[in-house]
Amino acid sequence: MVDSILDCATLPNGVKIPWLGFGVFKIPPGQETQAAVQEALEAGYRSFDTASFYANEEDVGKVLRACRIPRKELFITTKVWNSDQGFDSTLKAFDESMGKLDLDYIDLFLIHWPVAGRYKDTWVALEKLYEQGLVNAIGVSNFLVAHLEDVLDGCQVNPMVNQVEFHPRLLQPELLEFCKNHDIKLEAWSPLMSGRALSEATITRIAEAHGKTAAQVVLRWDLQHGVVTIPKSVHRERMEENAAIFDFELTLEEMSDIDALDRGQRVGPDPATFDF
Ligand code: NDP
Repeated sequence: MVDSILDCATLPNGVKIPWLGFGVFKIPPGQETQAAVQEALEAGYRSFDTASFYANEEDVGKVLRACRIPRKELFITTKVWNSDQGFDSTLKAFDESMGKLDLDYIDLFLIHWPVAGRYKDTWVALEKLYEQGLVNAIGVSNFLVAHLEDVLDGCQVNPMVNQVEFHPRLLQPELLEFCKNHDIKLEAWSPLMSGRALSEATITRIAEAHGKTAAQVVLRWDLQHGVVTIPKSVHRERMEENAAIFDFELTLEEMSDIDALDRGQRVGPDPATFDF
């Protein structure tokens, strides 16, 4: 049982990643990102998920550098964007992200999307950054089973994380199973379905039974599936609400009731058809 916001999952190389992190996609750069990251730190979050595409790495880095929390207690993820993929361009993009974050190292560096014809060269660049000790862990995002099989075929270092859209309307059981079998930690983006998963009757019934909110039930469901989760909110009370998921447990029946809401329904692009 995961029972604290400081609890971590262990990646195959021994690196610890907090089960609950804070996503900053769509938070405007500047004061708004800085305020959100500061409040999330105060609410207890230690893991922050950004990307070069979010245009707010500078703000995330600024607040994390200024906070008094030791660097080793923080966990920072960023990602290489689609137009930067390829070996040399990924190394360059990594330098740019490092410059913006202005941190000594990145905890987790991800390929943002599986750009056809380029993600394998991109992966080799990530392996190099890992071997150089500039990143503690490397992984991918939005990879389907076929993409993962392709990377696993001949790579030097296996992807340690696959960050994908994951919520009660999009369970992707085959992908979840594949990742478990290959020791790739699944991480849920848009875990709350961008807020849309929260009025579902099954979830509100379970929430009432536990004296919890629908968001808390959905995030707890992630953890009990062994899935790392990174909800986003710019509201302090929601940051705290989303972090209060360590004092209750869903029954097996409740887990299956939520699993049964799966419709293969996405809020973001489908990696199989996404126009990169
Ligand atoms: P989420 O599922 O986290 O939902 C965020 C939305 O839900 C916001 O509108 C927020 O509103 C609202 N919300 C948050 N908490 C609550 C609550 N307790 N009750 C009601 N509403 C709530 O979606 P995101 O798309 O933001 O995904 C989370 C993170 O995942 C991103 O920030 C990013 O880091 C990552 N991501 C990665 C992608 C990838 O391709 N790798 C793609 C998309 C996201 P408000 O802020 O107003 O409180």
